Amino acid sequence: MITPKENKSLLEREPRFDDSYCSMQAIPKIPKSQLKETRILVSYARRFNDEVIRPLALKTDLKSFQDPEYLPWDLIQKVNEWGFYTLFIPKIFGGQGWAFTSLNYVIEELASACVGIANVVFVHYLGFVTMLGSWNISVINKVCREVKEGERTGNPCLISLAITEPGAGTDVEEVELVDRGRVTCFAEKVKGGYIVNGNKIFISMGHVSTWHALVAYTDLKKPSENTLMLAVKNGMKGFSFGKHEDKMGQRACPASELIFQDCFVPDENVLVDSRTVPPSQLRETGELVNQIIHYVVEASRPAVGAFGTGVARGAYEQALKFAGETAVDGKLLINHEWAQIMLAEMYKNVIAGRLAYCEANFSNSLKGGIFSFLQIKPVYYYMKYVPQAVIDIFIVPFYKTKLFNWFMRQVFVEGQSLEAQKRCSGWASIAKFMGTDMGMKNSQMAIEMMGQAGLRHEQGCEKILRDSKLLQIYEGTNQLNRLNLFNCLIARCIPQARVFEEE
Ligand SMILES: Cc1cc2nc3c(=O)[nH]c(=O)nc-3n(C[C@H](O)[C@H](O)[C@H](O)COP(=O)(O)OP(=O)(O)OC[C@H]3O[C@@H](n4cnc5c(N)ncnc54)[C@H](O)[C@@H]3O)c2cc1C
Repeated sequence: MITPKENKSLLEREPRFDDSYCSMQAIPKIPKSQLKETRILVSYARRFNDEVIRPLALKTDLKSFQDPEYLPWDLIQKVNEWGFYTLFIPKIFGGQGWAFTSLNYVIEELASACVGIANVVFVHYLGFVTMLGSWNISVINKVCREVKEGERTGNPCLISLAITEPGAGTDVEEVELVDRGRVTCFAEKVKGGYIVNGNKIFISMGHVSTWHALVAYTDLKKPSENTLMLAVKNGMKGFSFGKHEDKMGQRACPASELIFQDCFVPDENVLVDSRTVPPSQLRETGELVNQIIHYVVEASRPAVGAFGTGVARGAYEQALKFAGETAVDGKLLINHEWAQIMLAEMYKNVIAGRLAYCEANFSNSLKGGIFSFLQIKPVYYYMKYVPQAVIDIFIVPFYKTKLFNWFMRQVFVEGQSLEAQKRCSGWASIAKFMGTDMGMKNSQMAIEMMGQAGLRHEQGCEKILRDSKLLQIYEGTNQLNRLNLFNCLIARCIPQARVFEEE
């Protein structure tokens, strides 16, 4: 018989038990009604697909070719009416407060119908999560209440995330690389705020968002230690929109240039200033802003994996339908063995993408993960059942206190151990490149199976292929995510391994 001691030492051999089997460890702790929540949301997403996305997907894509300056206001209105922009905003900020852990399942659902439109819905949450990572509660509360008001009045208020610059894409996505990028967005401290100069490019939903979580730098020579995160609102003097990218796919979702020319941002809109964090609060992982970037990508990369899985599913469903309706060589395509093998492979690809983002979700639910606090049962049920009015009376008054802000930041960002950060970041990268690679594979296979029919715009399959490629590039290219996986979960097994070292 194996003794518990021997057993422990076997388990501690690489790969570590805690890094794998995330689902096995997380599932027993997850509140039961969360599964019910996910089911309700997925069926709501299916209705939205049938009533809104499917009828508009191809039309919107075509419209954006005819008019490259097209902005999807009609779609945004619909998404707003359906309540998607407040669905996952916590009740403490006036949102509907559905469990964030359900987000990726909803994303997969919408992306299976059109990933461009799914982005019109979800980019907003990328901006929101970035603001949330700062746990600067009074700013977040102000922005979220405007989003809620926008839903009530029918004037949508969305949030974008602006990090990428003309000379720095991958570099600003990865904590260890940021000093190598050629960042130019400079913020100079002046009385009462900052003056910002510089450009941001490829900002999803930039032109149609009201608020922007902007990353700027107070010293361009050492950006990693001088990062600033600001909440910028449309209409601020010196802030304007530039080019609207004429891109290959996901054309429903605009990618914008944001221009800052002597733009004054008041101190009250500073989400995080890395220089003002006392050294005692900085850990081995480095700057607070960098910890926040980790926090954001741990949520956003699995979400992009879910987009990819949705694309893989959309392509598979198209191919399956085609094979069931089309005769080749005297019999239905679906009855040819080679087609059956291809469909089985495509089905497997969907499952592989889904398992990867689920596992990343479960990793985020384990100790030190960004969802773990929210999954403590009393916290979960309190947030779920306590009426909004009670929250507004008993919690909102504390938002301005430093202690409350500090507590939330400890719980959600700084309290994360390095070990948990590596696990969650590694899994986030696996989910990202697995899901998006599967999306790309299935969209190619679907076209192969459909032959010339697959190339016709009206069939929808060539659009899926065009949409799918973009997913491999944003949220850190898939190459970068492979390196991050190596860095987080593989390198530590080999002491000689070095990652992101300068040549
Ligand atoms: C449709 C779309 C929407 C986007 N939305 C947003 C948004 O909302 N907000 C935002 O801030 N940004 C956004 N981006 C920008 C996106 O995050 C960047 O495009 C991405 O980080 C890659 O940067 P890059 O395009 O500059 O490529 P580069 O960084 O120039 O990379 C070029 C190539 O070099 C490789 N490479 C670069 N550095 C390394 C390295 N150190 N090691 C190994 N390989 C490396 C890359 O893998 C890639 O193959 C969006 C991009 C797209 C396409």
